[in-house]
Amino acid sequence: MDELPLRHPLDLYQITRLLSVESPHEIEQVLARARTVKKECIDNKVYIRGLIELSNICRKNCLYCGVRRDNRGVRRYDIPEAEVLETVQHAMEEGYTSLVIQSGERTDQVFIQHIDRLLRKIQALSNHGMGITLSCGEQNPETYRRWADSGAHRYLLRIETTNRDLFRRIHPCDGSHLYDNRVKALQCLKETGYQVGTGVMIGLPGQTVEDLAKDLLFFRDINVDMVGMGPYIEHEMTPLHSEKDRLWSMEKRLEKSLLMIAVLRLVMKDINIAAATALDVLSHEGRTMAFHAGANVLMPNITPAQYREDYLIYKGKPVLQEAHDLISRISAGLPAGTQIDFTRWGDSKNYARRISG
Ligand code: SF4
Repeated sequence: MDELPLRHPLDLYQITRLLSVESPHEIEQVLARARTVKKECIDNKVYIRGLIELSNICRKNCLYCGVRRDNRGVRRYDIPEAEVLETVQHAMEEGYTSLVIQSGERTDQVFIQHIDRLLRKIQALSNHGMGITLSCGEQNPETYRRWADSGAHRYLLRIETTNRDLFRRIHPCDGSHLYDNRVKALQCLKETGYQVGTGVMIGLPGQTVEDLAKDLLFFRDINVDMVGMGPYIEHEMTPLHSEKDRLWSMEKRLEKSLLMIAVLRLVMKDINIAAATALDVLSHEGRTMAFHAGANVLMPNITPAQYREDYLIYKGKPVLQEAHDLISRISAGLPAGTQIDFTRWGDSKNYARRISG
């Protein structure tokens, strides 16, 4: 590649070309451009969100996911409220001001009330100082509204892939895993007033670089505020594992994941981009590399240790890593001048622009 083709707005051809670069020199050119854009358009911070994996009970059966409903080998858990609040208290003492609460998808009233109560108690405990992101799947508009009223202000709901055929191939055909419903839920979250995040898996069997380019255009078209995306990592207890021979190599999945982060930073300059945990499965330095590609959010796992091994969405997920060790390691490898920031919520600038009209 002679030089980076950066006529804005980037179109499908240019994005595909950027995602297709292969030589180390060209890849570094793309990553370096993303770092510059990040510095110019947001700041030189990495914002921290403590991740609590609240429950692995899920009504869905996604063909790629280790905690899918039909995986009988999983010990199911739902962390009791008191234990979650203890975890939050501890996190506050460590300086956290922002949390992500993630769970398998449930739409029953017991679950909805459980989340509702938890949000209110966390906000009371923190004197309304805690930034809370939820990631609890597709819900109806009333539930999204209720949780927002109780103290959640960001919501992550991954589309996983925007190729409809591929989406169908990685989900069961049972009428409850529909692409259009996922898109409607994302729209509903925006209308409810959340900062909205989505994301995709990179390197799914049969996925092409052009599919990935279209994923980035989808993020831009629906104007998301945050993106969390990472490599697809197979799990042997899932139906999609049977397609493991069609996968890109680990090196290629890592390379494409980093390019996706970098090109997204060029496409959507001031959104929040998380460094996905799955990157660390492909390389010990996976998440550190994400910050050299334009990512700006780190989500250390602060789930109580005894539950972590039961939230294995993919094979090889690092479950034993202590949050402070992770932060020290990442901190030591950040681009020059970049600092870890616990103290602010680190809301997406794109969101501020979006709501101010
Ligand atoms: S990906 Fe999410 S919704 Fe699908 S089975 Fe796993 S936890 Fe449930």
